[in-house]
Amino acid sequence: MFKYLDKYVEYETIGRGSYGSAHLVRSKSDQQVYVAKKIQLFNLKSKEQDDSKREVMLLQKLKHPHIVQYIESFNENDTLIIIMEYCEEGDLSFHINRMSQRKEYFPEQIILNWFLQCALALKYIHEQKILHRDIKSQNIFLSSNGFVKIGDFGISRVLEHTQDQANTVVGTPYYMSPEVCENKPYTYKSDVWSLGCVLYELCNLSHAFKSNNLLGLVNRIVKEQASAIPSHYSKELADLINKLLIKNADQRPHTSEIFNFPLIRNTMQQFV
Ligand code: ADP
Ligand code: MG
Repeated sequence: MFKYLDKYVEYETIGRGSYGSAHLVRSKSDQQVYVAKKIQLFNLKSKEQDDSKREVMLLQKLKHPHIVQYIESFNENDTLIIIMEYCEEGDLSFHINRMSQRKEYFPEQIILNWFLQCALALKYIHEQKILHRDIKSQNIFLSSNGFVKIGDFGISRVLEHTQDQANTVVGTPYYMSPEVCENKPYTYKSDVWSLGCVLYELCNLSHAFKSNNLLGLVNRIVKEQASAIPSHYSKELADLINKLLIKNADQRPHTSEIFNFPLIRNTMQQFV
């Protein structure tokens, strides 16, 4: 059993993956709820174990209002446990599906406000010379104060290793950039592409690029334009999405350039 250094009490399981599981825990000292991720280290080679520890240390240095805060991590029973902030309102993917079921669309102002918060987080991450590598609506969370926070990050690399080992099928890579599809290196611009896919998804309530097989998906990402977003959204918003989804990474805006768009500048002025 896990004792969580005698500091936390586990009371609910919220997810299970090939890497391990995610739980809600309550801190004994301040009674606050946190998320605990358990990553089974026996799946990892010793170099990967070292990598994962280094990565977690790096994550603990990150502090930003729009990034899910890592609290601490420790080892118990050959399992790496990461304690992080709990975002009560779930992930964006859940909210997108709910809107889609209700046949409603998010108001443009909400979309821009959420997007701005994500862009601020991504700018901060990139300024630390870190790539997220797994930006998607399932990894962007809403907290009860209405803040949007990018999460599940960095550990994605650790989890990839366990998934290799377990030989499990990784989810369809809807957010993969054209350059990554073409086996070129992952760069900051690849994160920008993925954020563009999230913005598209918030407008259209469906993925920008989809197919029922990997080859079909890669082909679409590399060659095809995503279909237009609903016409009730502004031309400026449609234009921003088109820029973020420019196939050629060199022509795609850098993270800091996102803030030069008048639409985003205006949103920022309303935000502060
Ligand atoms: P996966 O990403 O493979 O679903 P995770 O362990 O990352 O597995 O997450 C399990 C579940 O817990 C998901 O539904 C996810 O949305 C949710 N979750 C993960 N981290 C948080 C968090 N910090 N706050 C709230 N919910 C979270
Ligand atoms: Mg996740």
